[in-house]
Amino acid sequence: MAVPFRRTSKTRKNKRRTHYKLEVPGMVKCPDCGEYKLSHRVCGECGSYKGENVSAK
Ligand SMILES: [Zn+2]
Repeated sequence: MAVPFRRTSKTRKNKRRTHYKLEVPGMVKCPDCGEYKLSHRVCGECGSYKGENVSAK
């Protein structure tokens, strides 16, 4: 098995991990209640989508 010749520096390791994100991408603020929701999904807080309430039962 191949062994790395040099140890990976902290800088290099951190640079590699710059695209590690804390949140799931595609989060947008709901225009109605301001909560974060997934885009193209019905808001979980107020049940609105494209300005319409679609949570009515
Ligand atoms: Zn909402």
